[in-house]
Amino acid sequence: MDDRALYRTGRIGLEHVGWLKAMDGASLPRYPSLEGDLSTDVAVVGGGLLGTSLALHLAERGVGVVLLEARQIGFGASGRNAGHVATHVEGMRLPPGIKRLPEGGARYMELVRSGPAAVDQIVRRFDIACNYTANGHLILTNRGDDLRHLETEQRYWDSQGITMVLLDAAATEAAMGSLRFKAALHQRSGGRINPYAYTNGLASAAASVGARIFTHSAVTSVRQRGERWVVATGSGNVLAHRVIACTNAYVTEAIPAMTRAFYPGIPAIVSFKPVAASLADALVPSGATLSQLGLPAAVQKDVTGRFYFASIPPLGRAARSEPFARTLGTWLRKTFPQLASVPLEVEAYWSGRTANTLDALPRIHGIGPGFLAPIACNGLGITTCTQFGRVLAEAIHRDRYDELPTRVTPPGRYPLRSLYDPAVGLMVSGMRLRGRMRGALD
Ligand SMILES: Cc1cc2nc3c(=O)[nH]c(=O)nc-3n(C[C@H](O)[C@H](O)[C@H](O)COP(=O)(O)OP(=O)(O)OC[C@H]3O[C@@H](n4cnc5c(N)ncnc54)[C@H](O)[C@@H]3O)c2cc1C
Repeated sequence: MDDRALYRTGRIGLEHVGWLKAMDGASLPRYPSLEGDLSTDVAVVGGGLLGTSLALHLAERGVGVVLLEARQIGFGASGRNAGHVATHVEGMRLPPGIKRLPEGGARYMELVRSGPAAVDQIVRRFDIACNYTANGHLILTNRGDDLRHLETEQRYWDSQGITMVLLDAAATEAAMGSLRFKAALHQRSGGRINPYAYTNGLASAAASVGARIFTHSAVTSVRQRGERWVVATGSGNVLAHRVIACTNAYVTEAIPAMTRAFYPGIPAIVSFKPVAASLADALVPSGATLSQLGLPAAVQKDVTGRFYFASIPPLGRAARSEPFARTLGTWLRKTFPQLASVPLEVEAYWSGRTANTLDALPRIHGIGPGFLAPIACNGLGITTCTQFGRVLAEAIHRDRYDELPTRVTPPGRYPLRSLYDPAVGLMVSGMRLRGRMRGALD
């Protein structure tokens, strides 16, 4: 595949991902590839947030676990996402389908509410160097007539047990270091993280408590042998009682039941080179992650002074950084007039793959006896995958799948898959246009 095709499918190499550049050459543990045969209790396929969290929590419970990753830890969405540690996707309410989950969604909601705290706890417990800052999230508006909308949203989130504080213009100015905004909703929980560093930190935490991790070990097939499964790679096999495929949208033909069991989405991110330290401290002094009414995007400045802008690329332009770079540059200069004559240079541009369901809820699919595939944590993977890894490990350890936050179901059918991403692209372009007409970039 050439670079354009890799961008269009969300598989561009990690050397293009800004989070690695923001790590300033920090070295990460390396893992061997599988050579020869092993047996274990649980084989985990995929070394993203879910696979590494699951391996960690299984190993902590004394369950034997082998994790096989096709490329390197964090190659999938986990190492290349927008780094928002969140309880909901920017600009969206909770999916109504939650009520149909076990206990009317209560277990799932508990995981959502406690997601940021769970990430915080793991980062501290294993001392993971991933620039995690728990400064919450600001939903901004530059229009006075949005105030009523923000009040309604505040009441809604309050009713869901998620605290948001309405900031007036002066408080928003203090949080942003900018006079541009009329008000904001400040969600206190959550924050920002370097997701590549966090995923790798989870992997090394898992290895430290006994998980066996192999990278550059693509699983080529999973076959049942008696009561166990043979998980094959090109250079060795793992014989396991259980297999958990944490391959999400990066699934391959090795797990045929899952290749069409979701709608693939291709968001992308641009990052700018760090703003000079003398200027950076005054920009977003609250350290919150950001979104703005009318701007369908997630924005953050990390602790290194880099700005990141994540959205869905305009139709057919996933391989081009210019549209995103232009929007982020305009937004920054309007928000912070002190940047008017400062060069804002693109440092990195990359895309990734998400696995989507129409009701925006995650699934745990059963493929065979003891063979599960959890997918579709969508824009909440940092918190939800961390949490799902723990509850899945607990369910496996206790053999109590009935205690999971979602039921185990067969893989679903997703007709017209190739139309999903273009349809979302069109919808987001429409939202962008409406935002422009409403002055979101004024
Ligand atoms: C651009 C973008 C922005 C996002 N922004 C956010 C955000 O700000 N906040 C948030 O919470 N979430 C965000 N998300 C969602 C989040 O990243 C995902 O929900 C989460 O990373 C999914 O993790 P995972 O472990 O399930 O899958 P992945 O991280 O995708 O991992 C799957 C892994 O499986 C491996 N694999 C596949 N097939 C095989 C095989 N045959 N053998 C071995 N290994 C295999 C792949 O190489 C890959 O490493 C974003 C996603 C994207 C793409």
